[in-house]
Amino acid sequence: MRPARALIDLGALRHNYRLAKAAGGGKTLAVIKADAYGHGAVRCAQALQNEADGFAVACIEEALELRQAGIEAPILLLEGFFDKDELPLIDRHGFWCMVHDPWQVEALERAALTRPLKVWLKQDSGMHRLGLSAQACMAAWQRLRQVPDIEPMVLASHFARADELDCVRTREQAEAFAQLSAQIPLPTSLSNSPALLGWPDIRGDWSRAGLMLYGATPFPAAHPQADRLRPVMTLESQIIAVRELPSGEPIGYGGRFVTRKSSRIGVVALGYADGYPQFAPDDTPVALAGKPGHLIGRVSMDMLTVDLTDHPYAGIGTPVQLWGDQVAVSSVAARSGISVYPLLCGLKRAPRIYI
Ligand code: PLP
Repeated sequence: MRPARALIDLGALRHNYRLAKAAGGGKTLAVIKADAYGHGAVRCAQALQNEADGFAVACIEEALELRQAGIEAPILLLEGFFDKDELPLIDRHGFWCMVHDPWQVEALERAALTRPLKVWLKQDSGMHRLGLSAQACMAAWQRLRQVPDIEPMVLASHFARADELDCVRTREQAEAFAQLSAQIPLPTSLSNSPALLGWPDIRGDWSRAGLMLYGATPFPAAHPQADRLRPVMTLESQIIAVRELPSGEPIGYGGRFVTRKSSRIGVVALGYADGYPQFAPDDTPVALAGKPGHLIGRVSMDMLTVDLTDHPYAGIGTPVQLWGDQVAVSSVAARSGISVYPLLCGLKRAPRIYI
């Protein structure tokens, strides 16, 4: 079998959930949308179901997948419903629903429900993506609390820049949210991973932790809280061919890297079709049988190349870690000029092995 694989450490996932919960101080939803950021939503939910206060997903398809796998914990639909026709299914499965736009309020007023539907009201406190203005949020609260089968449960908002630790916008968003929550007597939910890790004085009754569950840091530099996380995914493969080349020889597509001396090049069975960044630069770190090494040449669809010149022990069959406990996924993302979020969510083809 092709040796490319992603090991998923469910013990590390539980460890990180506990850190998130301790940091938030209240209840914590495990955000497992987008197939748990590439880690497999059903397996992650099963691993957390005895301790998580609930789960959050993007849409009803993701929620149904969890219910069908036997997950009975509360599940919040972070974007609510996209069409009023979803309401009967939401009702049947008891999903919690984010309300972020006035049309959803109208749809809920007219819905025929068989039991109380718990809704989270979302304020746009400054991110300007989803959410009601403070005024619209107040109006939604006043209308929905009068609908017999609707139970407004939480007042929520979402940060745009909590990963920038000195950004004044985060403070302004928290203040806008505090002003509204002083008028709407509901439990609150504000923090995502960067807020849980980096803004300890901004708290609510419910946190929504995503990235940190998977052991990745949202910050560009070392951070005492983020450094306590354990990476959940290890992406690894093996060397499947070795080239001995003189100085001056180009390697791979586009000949991006040209040897500057007699070199040994290892070909690793893992490429951009597995989710590795195609334009990761030549100094992107890898671990060769546990020792620090680096990439050279452009990443191909199914393979990439590493420099073995200073690694005489390495040869065919040597294990190569692309990210995990020896190579921080955030450092691969940073070198490649992308965010760690799409890097994890973009895992493809390489089978996931749960440990
Ligand atoms: N809450 C909302 C509304 C989100 O959209 C997300 C993720 O995008 C999260 C929480 C989790 O964020 P993070 O992965 O940064 O913890």
